[in-house]
Parts: sequence; C-alpha cells; structure tokens
Amino acid sequence: MNYRHAFHAGNFGDVLKHVVLLELLDALHRKPNPVHLIDTHAGIGLYDLAADEAQRSGEYRFGIGAVLSDPQAAKLLPRYWDVLQRLNPELKAGGSGLRRYPGSPWLLQDSVRAGDRVSLCELHPQDAETLKYNIGRDPAVAIHHRDGFEALKALTPPTPRRGLALIDPAFEAKDEFDTLTRAVLLAHQRWATGQLAVWYPIKDQKSIDSWKASLARQLKVETLCIELTVRPAKDAKQMNGTGLLVINPPWQLGETLKPMLDFLKSRMARESGAAAKITSLVKAS
Ligand code: SAM
Repeated sequence: MNYRHAFHAGNFGDVLKHVVLLELLDALHRKPNPVHLIDTHAGIGLYDLAADEAQRSGEYRFGIGAVLSDPQAAKLLPRYWDVLQRLNPELKAGGSGLRRYPGSPWLLQDSVRAGDRVSLCELHPQDAETLKYNIGRDPAVAIHHRDGFEALKALTPPTPRRGLALIDPAFEAKDEFDTLTRAVLLAHQRWATGQLAVWYPIKDQKSIDSWKASLARQLKVETLCIELTVRPAKDAKQMNGTGLLVINPPWQLGETLKPMLDFLKSRMARESGAAAKITSLVKAS
C-alpha cells in the first residue's frame, strides 16, 4: 500500500467529493430519524496543509486553494465554508489562514446527532492509527482497521438502517474498478434503501463511460453522476477529472449542486475545455 492521502488532501477530487458529501448529509438530516454513515476508505480524517506531504505535492493549491481564493466561496458553498472556518478560525474570505483540511471521517463525525452512528474503515496500519488519534474517542464512531470492501459487506444493512456509505478507494490495484463494481452491487443488494456515494478518478473518459454503463445496466435504481473535468482527458496517465456516483440520491440533489459545481469548475479548471456535468445515469422508475 503506497497510497497516502496526505499528498492529495484538498485537491480537486477531494473538493468535489466533500462538497457533495456535505449536501448528502444535509439531506439525510432533514428528517429527525437517526442515520448510519459508513466510510469504507477513510484516510486519516484531518490533514495539515503546511505539512511536508501537502507542500511537496502542492495539489491542494489547485483544489481548495483555488476555490477559496474567490471571496464568493463563502456564499456559494456555505456548508463547506462553515466547516473550514470552524477548523481554521483564522480563515479569511479570499482563503488566507487555511491550514487544517477535513477528510471525510471528520465531516461525518461533525454531522453526528443523537442516535446517529459512524463506521470508518482504513486498511493502512499507520493511517488507521492516525485516524484514531485525529477522530478521538467517540461512542458514536467505530473505527475499523480492515479492508473497506469486506467491511461494506459485513456492515450492511446497518443499524440504524437509514444512511449512506461513502466508497472512496485509492485505485492502486489494477483491478480496483472490478472490485469496486462487485462491492457496490453487493452493498446495494444487501441495503436497497441505502445511499451509496462512489468516488472515481477520470483519466481516460472512454473507459470511465463504459464502466458507468456496465454499472447502470446492473443497478436499475436511480443513480446520479456528478463529474468535473479540469482539462480535456487527452493524456490518460494523469487525473483529468473526478466524479461521484450517487445511488439513491436525495430529492433535487442535482438542482442543488448545479451552481456549486459550475463555481468549482470556474475555480479549478486547468485548461480550456474543462467541464462540469450532472447527469442521470439511471432514472427513477
Ligand atoms: N475518504 C477519504 C477522504 O475523503 O478524506 C480519503 C480516502 S483515500 C482516497 C483512500 C484511503 O483508502 C487511503 O487512506 C488508503 O490507505 C485506504 N485504503 C486503500 N485500500 C484500502 C482497503 N482495501 N480498505 C480500506 N482502506 C483502504
């Protein structure tokens, strides 16, 4: 396991994923019933953008850095801004003062209400330890040092039964898309009402489109596809874009996200030909 998310925290993939995740959490919390939130590939939960890893890669500068440098960010992304500001009390409109960046486990834990449960899985031994340290002891949160795909099977359907699973693999293994497809289909079979948010990188758009088409043929349940490409996907060796599939999306998620996604594109585009789109991969029957 070579992948360490500390090099990538706050990059454009994280920004899209975390903006969508906050909207999913908000929609779940519109009803008072408790929820179970699962994060299959958790990372360490909280990142220091001044640390060597983030500084060496510099990826966050083209992600969260580019987004916050526009003072409009606070108004257009209110939930994201609120979280970032609580973590960084010195954060100013325009982005100065940003140092701590929240990972998905932090966002999930931060959203917890009475009766809610969170299950976090991280396989890398050192990252699992750091995750425990960053999240701290919390009776609502269970941290598992285990394979997230296996855990997804073991934990579904969860108690309480309402909720969501974020599936955010590192895509290190050659067959990771196949493993992901099997895990998603099985989780949906076991937990038909659960929301599944599946993150993916876009290197070669054609192979992503055929993966999505094959998933759509097998899913047969409402699925929204939210994609942002920061440059035309001409060079399949680099990450040209990022996407999130949301199975069982909340009502009007696409409409809510559209202006946010357009703003993210305007801030994080690297070349002309960048694109932001929200499409229905499988329509509600
Ligand atoms: N979800 C995190 C966030 O948004 O802050 C980022 C997760 S990062 C993209 C993927 C993480 O999965 C890495 O920390 C990696 O160590 C971990 N990982 C890799 N293979 C795994 C597996 N089979 N099960 C669980 N975690 C795994």
